[in-house]
Amino acid sequence: MLKINQLHKSYPIGDSSLHVLKGIDLEVNSGEMVAIMGSSGSGKSTLLNIIGMLDEADSGDYILDGVPIKNLTEKKAAVYRNKFLGFIFQSFNLINYKNALENVALPLYYQGLNRKERQEKAKFHLQKVGLLEWAHHLPSELSGGQKQRIAIARALAADPKLLLADEPTGALDTKTSYEIMEFLQQLNDEGKTILIVTHEEDIAEMCKRVVRLRDGIIEEDKKVNQVRASQYV
Ligand code: ADP
Ligand code: MG
Repeated sequence: MLKINQLHKSYPIGDSSLHVLKGIDLEVNSGEMVAIMGSSGSGKSTLLNIIGMLDEADSGDYILDGVPIKNLTEKKAAVYRNKFLGFIFQSFNLINYKNALENVALPLYYQGLNRKERQEKAKFHLQKVGLLEWAHHLPSELSGGQKQRIAIARALAADPKLLLADEPTGALDTKTSYEIMEFLQQLNDEGKTILIVTHEEDIAEMCKRVVRLRDGIIEEDKKVNQVRASQYV
């Protein structure tokens, strides 16, 4: 699914620079559910953003679904992003003045579907996250857990091969976090490949593999016995 070789990333700060990723090697196969862990500032989001083509590495190789991701034009990157990737963020990143259905339908706009097809597909995914009856509500009328479900439905709408989640439970209470994790586990059971950035051990244990970042490198990469979230919800 993806292969990363000797990836480096620095950020300029004044006259000097901050070397955040110092040679990352990572391979993720189709069907995996991987937690990327590390303390705050360890470069988790930087890595996820590069994987998500929201940012570019300084050096190293990155191949996504057989496509070398390098020197792509913004237009081409957008096409691949839309085709391959779905994103979920800690702060949901919903559009506040659009209702749930419109939020979910948004990425479908870029898929060349007509209005009716977009609505149908968005409804299907809203139903999948159990929120069809909330279709016409604005994000401000929804709870945190509901907002994250809408964001998941939006991420799934274009049927991405890879789901990228940056601290998806970071703004949620424990019970709601586990409900979201249960849903992500079900998606992974159905075959979806998922990468989750988290700094919470209990969330990481609900994945199948844990990759730990420290001081710019991967200090540990191991398979774990997946804890099922359903036993807590
Ligand atoms: P994490 O997600 O693990 O908390 P980040 O990847 O967000 O870590 O950040 C890693 C380091 O890079 C931090 O020290 C952060 O301050 C710095 N950093 C992140 N983004 C930028 C940026 N756009 N410009 C400068 N420094 C950045
Ligand atoms: Mg982060």
